[in-house]
Amino acid sequence: MAIYNFGSINIDHVYRVAHLPAPGETVHTLGYQTGLGGKGANQSIAAALAGARVVHIGAVGADGTPALDRLSAAGVETSAILRMDNATGHAIVMVDQAAENAIALHGGANAEQGFAHIEAALEDSVIGDTLMMQNETLHQADAARVASGLGLEVVYSAAPFDIDAVRAVLPYVTLLILNEGEAAQLCSALGVEIPDLPVDTVVVTRGAKGAECWQTGEAPLLVPAHAVVAVDTTGAGDCFAGSLVAALDRGDDLAGAMRYASAAAALQVMRPGAADAMPTRVEVESLL
Ligand code: ADP
Repeated sequence: MAIYNFGSINIDHVYRVAHLPAPGETVHTLGYQTGLGGKGANQSIAAALAGARVVHIGAVGADGTPALDRLSAAGVETSAILRMDNATGHAIVMVDQAAENAIALHGGANAEQGFAHIEAALEDSVIGDTLMMQNETLHQADAARVASGLGLEVVYSAAPFDIDAVRAVLPYVTLLILNEGEAAQLCSALGVEIPDLPVDTVVVTRGAKGAECWQTGEAPLLVPAHAVVAVDTTGAGDCFAGSLVAALDRGDDLAGAMRYASAAAALQVMRPGAADAMPTRVEVESLL
């Protein structure tokens, strides 16, 4: 089957600085790195490296060729990514010597794309395919409604958390993926506990403490995290989400898919980077 991942594509510009600039101050950089980012792109790469057929739905600007090339290199299909005249979404990240950061995020093409190409991309889907989404774009609720009408599974990572966006998407969601903080915010906003969230299957990730899966009418499934030395946990949740959906898409049961995702995320946190640290299926299976 196919995973249609409608999500953000960013180019991250990361500058090392001696200290973060105060208002009005100019600081010289000590180093510069650029790379692919965005929760959407991260999850597409994780799912594609896990062996899934992934069609990324999104948009880049005139400067988006490196991002498209990076997605293609990981095996992600890019034909449903719109090329716009404006800028590709990007983050200007400054990191000081104590690893404290300051980030300016420009939504660019992610925030300016319309709904027409998203709907057109979903027309190629078949019943049983999956629509995956996060919260760094607009139109998630419309996409979820259309996908649900077409008989697709609708998987939603409610990150970054925004209660209005979540409320609008939730009625269509078949699998909701939250980290600990997002789960607490959603439960508090809705005034319910995790088992009573109005979604059939809810996965909650708790960093080094592991992950839980709550399915209506079933006892919760608890999957411990692998004991590893984490060097960079950026993108761990994206790795878990993309790997989980890829494993479900190929027919693994929930318990197996959770174990696969947990092993993938453990490998991911042992390496620096987000998209660049996503493991392949061969690597993950050698840990299982
Ligand atoms: P997010 O990045 O969205 O905050 P989490 O921090 O909950 O997500 O991490 C997602 C998953 O990644 C966890 O459930 C776990 O499987 C794995 N993971 C994260 N941090 C570690 C760690 N230090 N050691 C091992 N696994 C980890």
